[in-house]
Amino acid sequence: MKKQTGKKGHILVIEDDPISRNILANIFDNEGYTVSEADDGVKGLEKMRAELPDLVCLDVVLPRLSGFEVCRMARKDMQLAPIPILMVTSLDKKEDIIKGLKSGANDYISKPFTPAEVMARARVNLEQKFFLDKLKDRTKKFRMAYEVMETTTSSLDLKRILFILVEKIAEALAAERCSIVVVEGNWREDNNGMKGTVLVSHEDPGLNELTIDLSKYPELLEAFRTGSVVLVEDVNTDPLMKDVRDKIIPLGYQSILAAPLAYRGEIMGALLLRSARSGKSFTEEEIAIARLIAGASTNALKNASLYQALESRTLRVEKLNEALIKVNQELEELNNIKSEFVSTVSHELRTPLTSIIGFSELMAEEQVGPLTKDQKEYTRQILRKGKDLLALINDILDTGRIEAGKIACRFRATNLTDVVNAVLSSTRHVTGSEPVIQLDLSDDLPEIEADSDKVIQILSNLVTNALKFSPEGTPIIISAKPIEGRRETDHSNLLQISVADQGIGIPANLLQKVFEQFFQVDQGASRTHPGAGLGLFISKSMVELHGGKIWVNSIHGRGSTFHFTLPISQG
Ligand code: ADP
Repeated sequence: MKKQTGKKGHILVIEDDPISRNILANIFDNEGYTVSEADDGVKGLEKMRAELPDLVCLDVVLPRLSGFEVCRMARKDMQLAPIPILMVTSLDKKEDIIKGLKSGANDYISKPFTPAEVMARARVNLEQKFFLDKLKDRTKKFRMAYEVMETTTSSLDLKRILFILVEKIAEALAAERCSIVVVEGNWREDNNGMKGTVLVSHEDPGLNELTIDLSKYPELLEAFRTGSVVLVEDVNTDPLMKDVRDKIIPLGYQSILAAPLAYRGEIMGALLLRSARSGKSFTEEEIAIARLIAGASTNALKNASLYQALESRTLRVEKLNEALIKVNQELEELNNIKSEFVSTVSHELRTPLTSIIGFSELMAEEQVGPLTKDQKEYTRQILRKGKDLLALINDILDTGRIEAGKIACRFRATNLTDVVNAVLSSTRHVTGSEPVIQLDLSDDLPEIEADSDKVIQILSNLVTNALKFSPEGTPIIISAKPIEGRRETDHSNLLQISVADQGIGIPANLLQKVFEQFFQVDQGASRTHPGAGLGLFISKSMVELHGGKIWVNSIHGRGSTFHFTLPISQG
């Protein structure tokens, strides 16, 4: 990189004759240029490479490497090619001038020369060189702006866009610090206590959303308020900075540029540039570039931030979903283990229980010898409790099978009167005493296509409940009638069976819950009725296996009526 001289430009004089070299050097020096010298072609070329001067004055006749050679070699070198070369020739050697121009020299001066002539030639060539430099610099900056725009439109990674943006801007505009600050929420005129977030800063790639108090950044507030670029040329003198000067001056910044980022007229934040260039602020051109980049990036920024918000929300939902699936799998596994355990234990219990029931039945019927009155009563108790326990175990096993989807129906022509009779005889067993059961079976009851064992189980559950939850002696009514099914079901003809009691009833808000597993209206420890809350769940599942429905009407304290339907045919 060329060193900054602070002078008008840098001229290299390559001349072996010390007198001519001195004269030329003096002419340039008097005009305020920085001058360096070389006395042969090789050294001259070396100095050109090392110093990258703005102009070279090159003698034709030189030791080691002629002026023409130096010229030719410089033109082939990418870095040296743009440096203008003035050939120094003798007036009487016209062919040297032509040869020099052919080797790539830009102009010539003929010996003997006057200072005015030398300066006139030098100035023209220097101006051209400076103009070209400026053009190149501008092209570089606009190329950078184009690259930034391209990045911002092709990438949706917010942090990446922002970092490339600030990096390029800082490089192009030679800023010590380039950051992007966004305002939290909507920008308001009454900006009291408003906070901003520095999203990225080019000198700190690891910066993670630094919160700042906007009242300490008057240039940002001004840019937000006016919606236009704010330039603080000199923090030492600009009145805008009066309250914060003491804090900023020690940081070494000379000028500040804040370009607002606005999306559809709404301020989102600003591009903040700080420079330490002493005595030199941001140029018009640099301000234009900053404005251009800020404008071009805002759309992309908005898109990227929207996209990122969406992406992180989707990601959160996905993660949550994954966690739920995992928990679900674990629960399913646990459930399977539980079901297996319950099923195994139940089977193990059922075998000895069958013996208990069988033997106590034999004893109660005095088939193995006469019993005393008390012995008979106790044996009956054993038998009854044994049967209760067996029913409970059977319910648990059925529930397990229903959950595993392992229960199937064997449909056969079924006579409902037979079903009712079977239920009545088993109910007598359960209660021990004669229950008051009334029948209201319609005369035209058709045979139905059903799994009779399951229908017996359903009806038996309902009748047992009706007896369990009614005062002793109050009547239970079993009724059945054919009804027209609803159109949307496949089965247009149904049989509706109902069990009505005048018992304790069910509170209105729990009418649906009674069909859930393990649900009991009275769940307290002082519960007076035996059971595990599985009967209605099993009944509902079995009704549904037939393609029917089950529901309950009840008045709390007055009694309940459970209804269920069964399709007459399973076709
Ligand atoms: P269980 O009878 O073994 O508790 P069920 O599933 O058969 O289980 O019944 C669930 C609950 O519904 C019962 O505990 C009871 O609270 C309520 N219930 C069922 N039938 C009746 C009824 N006829 N009258 C009042 N409550 C009932």
